[in-house]
Amino acid sequence: MGLFGLWWNGSAVGFLLLVPGILGWGKEGHYAVCKIAEGFLSEDALAAVKELLPESAGGELAAVCSWPDEIRFHYHWSSALHYVDTPDFLCNYNYSRDCHDSAGHKGRCVTAAIYNYTMQLLTYQDSISKSKYNLTEALLFLSHFIGDVHQPLHVGFTGDLGGNTIIVRWYRRKTNLHHVWDNMIIESAVKTMYSEDLGLMIEAIQRNITDAWFNDMSSLQICTNNRTTVCPNEYASESIRLACKFAYRNATPGSTLNDDYFLSRLPVVEKRLAQSGVRLAATLNHIFSSEPKIAEA
Ligand SMILES: [Zn+2]
Repeated sequence: MGLFGLWWNGSAVGFLLLVPGILGWGKEGHYAVCKIAEGFLSEDALAAVKELLPESAGGELAAVCSWPDEIRFHYHWSSALHYVDTPDFLCNYNYSRDCHDSAGHKGRCVTAAIYNYTMQLLTYQDSISKSKYNLTEALLFLSHFIGDVHQPLHVGFTGDLGGNTIIVRWYRRKTNLHHVWDNMIIESAVKTMYSEDLGLMIEAIQRNITDAWFNDMSSLQICTNNRTTVCPNEYASESIRLACKFAYRNATPGSTLNDDYFLSRLPVVEKRLAQSGVRLAATLNHIFSSEPKIAEA
């Protein structure tokens, strides 16, 4: 299992510099996923990513990984692509049953979006000028959606909109369960365990990837069917299982979530950030590999 050694390009140390304070609600998780992925990009993938990044990114994928959240109300068509909801209390996911928007239009969900943007990016080798797609947007959407599909409540129940309608208290603060998983668990960890420095939390996750979780993480580079490098249906199935086992559990409407919930769910959040970072890197490495391959997504 030498792949991680090959991937490691040394750039990971760079993020120890203070993360800019402009990171607001919801941005930390996506920043972490993309920062982790950047550390495992191959030379080919890194070059392609840098070529496609908008100038505002300053050469850093992580800087623009929240862009799809910022434009989701402007690009109205994109807002259904951040999640996929499942039938209430079933705790499993099925693409043909679940992948549709609230109006029932098939193929409008996060897993379909991941397939679609992977397919678009595979045209990169045809030369940028010839591609009929906007590959910069495709890169940012793919990087963002691979993060989203790993957040357990982005594959939650239809009836509560993935926890959005479950009002709870996070310690003393009133919020909803979806927001707890998007933001609060990460923010509380950064605040109480990492001296308010997201970079330190990312560094700790990176250390786990190359150390304690190494065997787990190595196996994530390929899908179980072995034929593809992106398998959003697998990621979504894992998420709904985790949603049932950890997110919804002991978090009924009106409940107060405190240390018990925080400390038992934080390891789940950290592992999902790690998994999505590693899988994003593997996907981009595959897409931008200079070796000839059959187009697949
Ligand atoms: Zn999103």
